Amino acid sequence: MNTRSSETTERDLVLELVRLRRFGKACSHVVCPRCGGGPCHRWGAFAGRQRYRCTSCNRTFSDLTGTFLARCRRISRWPLNLAAMERCLSVRLTAREAGISPSTAFRWRHRILDARRESARTPWQGELLADCTPVRIRRIGSREARVWVLGAIGRQRARLKGDARLLAIAARDARPGAAMLEPWISMLVHRGCRIRDGRGRFGSVALAGRRLGLVVGRKCRRDMTPLTRLLRGIRPFLRPFRGVSLRWLQNYLEWKLLLGSHVSHLPPRHAGGRRRVPVAAGLRFLGLVL
Ligand SMILES: [Zn+2]
Repeated sequence: MNTRSSETTERDLVLELVRLRRFGKACSHVVCPRCGGGPCHRWGAFAGRQRYRCTSCNRTFSDLTGTFLARCRRISRWPLNLAAMERCLSVRLTAREAGISPSTAFRWRHRILDARRESARTPWQGELLADCTPVRIRRIGSREARVWVLGAIGRQRARLKGDARLLAIAARDARPGAAMLEPWISMLVHRGCRIRDGRGRFGSVALAGRRLGLVVGRKCRRDMTPLTRLLRGIRPFLRPFRGVSLRWLQNYLEWKLLLGSHVSHLPPRHAGGRRRVPVAAGLRFLGLVL
């Protein structure tokens, strides 16, 4: 199989998977991503993508409209990019594996994570269970983040020059049966932060919570194991990235959370360098992130 036809196959596989995930097998299930209405009819195709027209708002859209793959010209490179992401490869290695530039690899990585982060989530309500771990960030990235941190730490601003430690907080809904687990970041900088027990009134979580305007309750007696397990994995996960900037920290935690529910079956170095194994892994990972 030559490169061109294998690229077409990979593009078609991605498109088919996205279509199945979003609309199911029948065209009657297609919902307009612009107005949420329908019914929608098939309306030609372009670049291998099916186009639809919504009879409610009369606008057209494709299989990829409204996903992180929208307006991407090199769909065929996504499976290898995702396979690299599944293995937590660096930007440089991801770029090499997927045959894209490092800047594209970085942009694509955050496209997925931004989309995950912004996807509709139920806002936290009522009581939360929370625990935290300190993570190291490389430097205070964007101006916006800097202002945010300075606001959070107040008097400690003079110490905020180089690397800093933040608390990564994991929280879950305390209602019985609610298994929602999310990273919830407090931009509370504490260079010499001692984390002992985040569950008490005077623990780090409580302190961060007060800064975020939350009501801090009494010490929690419920099972904290899922939170502790999640938090324990955060620092080893972040280590290969050699400190992430504050600008992207939340995305990296999103990534960790994403991988937490998924076990990679890829061998460390895919045998013989054939594309099939990573492509299959990339498609499996795509199914997870869609
Ligand atoms: Zn519409």
